[in-house]
Amino acid sequence: MRSRRPGPADAEAPSDIKALDRKGLAAALAELGEPSYRTEQVLRWLYQRRIRGFDEMTDLPRPLRGALDDRFTIGRLHTEVCEASRDATRKYLFRLTDGATVESVGMPGARGRLTVCYSTQAGCAMGCLFCATGVGGFVRNLSVGEMVDQVAEVGADFGRRVSNAVAMGQGEPFANYDATLGALRLLNDEDALGIGARHLTVSTCGIVPGLRRFAEEPEQFTLAVSLHSAIQSTRDRLMPAMAAYPLSDLKAALGAYVDRTGRRPSLEYALIADINDSPVELAALVAFCQGLLCHVNLIHLNPAEGVAVARASAERLRAFERELAEAGIETSVRRERGSDISAACGQLRQSAPSG
Ligand code: SAH
Ligand code: SF4
Repeated sequence: MRSRRPGPADAEAPSDIKALDRKGLAAALAELGEPSYRTEQVLRWLYQRRIRGFDEMTDLPRPLRGALDDRFTIGRLHTEVCEASRDATRKYLFRLTDGATVESVGMPGARGRLTVCYSTQAGCAMGCLFCATGVGGFVRNLSVGEMVDQVAEVGADFGRRVSNAVAMGQGEPFANYDATLGALRLLNDEDALGIGARHLTVSTCGIVPGLRRFAEEPEQFTLAVSLHSAIQSTRDRLMPAMAAYPLSDLKAALGAYVDRTGRRPSLEYALIADINDSPVELAALVAFCQGLLCHVNLIHLNPAEGVAVARASAERLRAFERELAEAGIETSVRRERGSDISAACGQLRQSAPSG
């Protein structure tokens, strides 16, 4: 087979510097013969001062600015739409450099807190029955910088420091593992966003190899797992891609995570009428939690475009809450935010919002 020799254009095609994680950036700067403290300087320019051009990195020597400009571009999100909810939640539609779009949500809280829900992929390949993103299909993975920038952009729009960030927007974080970890580390990095690791949450649909890897990461990031049913046939129906990872494997991986990290994962459970809200489902959920350090987060299913299932009744939600508590399982009910602007869980989709 004849190999194609890269021409000068290929060798020099500039790439987005924000696609690099901290290690990648450090390696690129070392290759240019730069001392290690340059990494810190460049990160601060990119994510704290959020400059648009290498020219603006005024504490870097001019030749280095030129060398960076030759090799790299600086990716940027374009805010296509920002909608405000009655409860002060804001939903953003960001356009990425190649035209793909993602949605993010900013939720202000008491004492100046701000939680940002960001996307890890444009679309999602998992096809969960109840989720607007799943119904819309997969577009592409996001880069490190595209994730960090969503959080930075929302913080800037609110004019607040971001206190919490959750990977619960579009996409499955563990289907884009390396970029997601790179982004989590920059979100945590004092030279970038400086958000405490415990205030950074990853929500996964339950990709077991990803969970096992995540358990080995040294940082104390917070883990949430979308369970939605502890009965195999129901879960297979709701989350078809997860049939590859049976509930017994998921429970074993969660147990190993707890043993390894000493941290309590959340199990997310959106109550869906006549599918996962029966007493039998509740008993299965209680049994799944038994012997596992966990927290159950009950979610009112949010209506979403293209989603044919309906939310369970308030009585069923209360029954779940009560019985879980009686079984000694820590439980909370997720507060619904921004549903009037389709910014709530599972309502994020691909196209521009109408209206
Ligand atoms: N892919 C990851 C993270 C993004 S989804 C995951 O599945 O965990 C974020 C959360 O929203 C998950 O818990 C998901 O199950 C939940 N969700 C999806 N559709 C929903 C809907 N229509 N109503 C309420 N929650 C929903
Ligand atoms: Fe993807 Fe999560 Fe939606 Fe499932 S619930 S389709 S994994 S975003």
